[in-house]
Amino acid sequence: MSVIGIDFGNESCYIAVAKAGGIETIANDYSLRGTPSCVAFSPKNRILGVAAKNQMVTNMKNTVFGFKRLLGRKFSDPLVQKELKHFPFKVEPRADGGIGIRVNYLGEDNVFSPEQITAMLFTKLKDVATTALQTQINDCVISVPSYFTNAERNALLNAAAIAGLNVLRLFNETTATALTYGIYKQDLPAPEEKPRNVVFVDFGHSSLQVSACAFNKGKLRVLATASDSQCGGRDIDSALAEYFCQDFITRYKLDPKKNQRAYQRLLQEVEKLKKQMSANSTRLPLNIECFMEERDVSGDMQRSQMEQICADTFTKVERTLRAILHNAKLRPEDISSVEIVGGSTRIPAVKGLIEQVFGKHASTTLNQDESVSRGCALQCAMLSPAVRVREFSVTDVQPYAVRLAWDAARGEDGDMEVFPAFHAAPFSKMLTFYRKEPFTVSAYYSDQVPFPDTFIGQWHIKDVQPTAEGESQKVKLKVRVNIHGIITVASASLVEKKQDAAQNDNVEMENSNENVNNSQEAPMETNGSQEQPQNGPDNQEVREDEMKGEPQQKQSWTQRVGQWFSGDNADDKKDKSKEKSKKVLVKTVELPIEARTHGYSQQELNSYMEQEGKMQAQDRQEKERADARNALEEYVYELRGKLSEGETLHDFVAEDQRHKLVNQLDALEQWLYDEGEDQNRQVYSDKLTELRTEGEPIKQRRLEYELRPGALDDLSLAV
Ligand code: ATP
Ligand code: MG
Repeated sequence: MSVIGIDFGNESCYIAVAKAGGIETIANDYSLRGTPSCVAFSPKNRILGVAAKNQMVTNMKNTVFGFKRLLGRKFSDPLVQKELKHFPFKVEPRADGGIGIRVNYLGEDNVFSPEQITAMLFTKLKDVATTALQTQINDCVISVPSYFTNAERNALLNAAAIAGLNVLRLFNETTATALTYGIYKQDLPAPEEKPRNVVFVDFGHSSLQVSACAFNKGKLRVLATASDSQCGGRDIDSALAEYFCQDFITRYKLDPKKNQRAYQRLLQEVEKLKKQMSANSTRLPLNIECFMEERDVSGDMQRSQMEQICADTFTKVERTLRAILHNAKLRPEDISSVEIVGGSTRIPAVKGLIEQVFGKHASTTLNQDESVSRGCALQCAMLSPAVRVREFSVTDVQPYAVRLAWDAARGEDGDMEVFPAFHAAPFSKMLTFYRKEPFTVSAYYSDQVPFPDTFIGQWHIKDVQPTAEGESQKVKLKVRVNIHGIITVASASLVEKKQDAAQNDNVEMENSNENVNNSQEAPMETNGSQEQPQNGPDNQEVREDEMKGEPQQKQSWTQRVGQWFSGDNADDKKDKSKEKSKKVLVKTVELPIEARTHGYSQQELNSYMEQEGKMQAQDRQEKERADARNALEEYVYELRGKLSEGETLHDFVAEDQRHKLVNQLDALEQWLYDEGEDQNRQVYSDKLTELRTEGEPIKQRRLEYELRPGALDDLSLAV
């Protein structure tokens, strides 16, 4: 079993694998390390990755890209509306307000969700990894922008599930990069020393992410993040394209915006020009042949001009760089280096801004394209029992302040901040409520967030009843930022206290927080219930073990449920008899929770998985068909070539038979481009079998002829 890391980029994806010897990047079926995040549809199959990107300009309406940014969003979301302007394919609202992508597939209209499209790309990546590693792939870690919300993270997990991937962690992109940086650094300060602060800047295709991390030997702690999800390399491309549109209107009277295909070609050409400008400050040409109305166009640009045209983007970059200093409460002199990754950090102006803001050169210790996938593979290895790697502790943050609101018991509705922005993650907090009846809590992001939908989830805690005396019960909620950065109410439990001391093996006294295994999340009973406010929760903080803890903790939690547990440790033993009369028995009972959050129901997931399975079968079938056709075509060409004058098989067949066979081959070639273009697999393989009965005996005769001297030698020896 292999463990892999996937960098799911807006423009391209990278896959890395953790092996005994280290981390390797996996090349795809085109021997490229990056696979475009591109999915296309044809009358016969789906086209994924490199092949999809290659046919984009000729299949515009059915080639889908940029879908990472649609995950978990509503159609009406202003950001989605903005994205739509860039898409040559059809996007529409679904009945539930979600996003539908309408394409022609197998000759029919089909509407897919962004999750489904992402799943299609993931099946491709899974396929690439399976082929390269010759083993089954299940466990993986997938990268996610640090600014992704609950809705976006859930959607990404759904996409992975549809593709049959088991995600051990959604790993923040800049944290993955930080792990790649830290794990091989030999000179990190000792654990008790002052940590080394490093800033990571990832400027990609559609967004800019920055993080500040504190490193010590064997561990890293993310201090804060800053990002601009609306600032990336593609914004530079758009601005340059806009410039050339105006230029072409003036000089050629051609408006590329009136023709989607021309506009897409222009975008591809300005991107090439942009990359050249990163390495070259002289004036560079832009030429596009047969651009519109069968006319060629040309133009030129110089780096300084580009910097002026894209000034907006660079202003945003500077703002985000300054924001990390503020968010992490660091001064430039507190930072030992600024590491850059992501394609767009190759732009000299970006490096210049880094120098300006941090007072030091941008450092390129890391592989700019592969650090995210490598960090994901490392994290996957750490979380999976399949591969052993050096341990390295990672403490991440979640970027937005989270509030929890609850409905009224006897007082007023309440609301509190459970996690401030940049709170450590994963993390759990225990909140205590005093209730006589079922109640509801809901979580939402605080107002200061750059997206419209702040809803996180609503949880209805069931089966709460008053005590026998008609009093409130103590209910503990565990609110958690889980390993994927998703906020949930992980559990609710009723804490029953009894004053009598029934003697039973399972019955123990709760008098210590060490009583429940060694987990730090033990519910600590320190406050007397009388002092509790009637309405507001009392909270406790619980740091989660960020590496291997999650599955284990889940288990230990359920194991505890409904059990009486013990504080019977050595130190307490001597006081035990004295206390006997005051024993308080504590029993926790897990309460059922009805959750309403983002993401698909199991039923929806199952149906999408089934649909994905059918599409895969269709792709496989189409591939077999194409392979059978290619095999026949190849045989026709090969045989005809060898039968021609002066070639190897020419003299091994009687002349009239050869003429007949060559005529037959010519006819077959004709047929292949005619009605034989689109037959099913069997037709091709039958024809190939038939042809081989003619061709193979001729080849055999040639072979025997070649072997005859040897065979004769053997014979003479034998005599
Ligand atoms: P994201 O991180 O935004 O989801 P991604 O990971 O796919 O997207 P990257 O592969 O890091 O993005 O970067 C791609 C971007 O980098 C593209 O916009 C590309 O044009 C740009 N880029 C790549 N090389 C250069 C270069 N030499 N000069 C300028 N820009 C470049
Ligand atoms: Mg990226």
